[in-house]
Amino acid sequence: MGAILGKDTATVLKEIEEMLADGLKTQTEPFPETAVEFAKLLDELRALEPDDLKGRLVIGGFTDYPYGEDEMRCQECIYYLVHRKWCDLPELSVPVEPNWWCRLWKI
Ligand code: SF4
Repeated sequence: MGAILGKDTATVLKEIEEMLADGLKTQTEPFPETAVEFAKLLDELRALEPDDLKGRLVIGGFTDYPYGEDEMRCQECIYYLVHRKWCDLPELSVPVEPNWWCRLWKI
């Protein structure tokens, strides 16, 4: 795995951790209930500048903790690559911790 956004993965992970720890307000709601709503979120993500990391977090609705009553987490999401601690949804493509979550979550 090489660089992301021109930076190494550890650096990007740290940036994300810091933004979330600093209380970045992300759009956790509404959760996309249909394929159309999901696709619309992907469109919004694709419209971002490639280096707009904060935008991905905001539109993705990232949290640095399990979300909701069901305690949903990256760990159980189909896009999570366990060994790389990586979100493989192309529109996100960011390092993530297993106990984080975003509203593109899918099982
Ligand atoms: S899509 Fe969201 S919940 Fe799933 S692995 Fe990526 S960041 Fe985590």
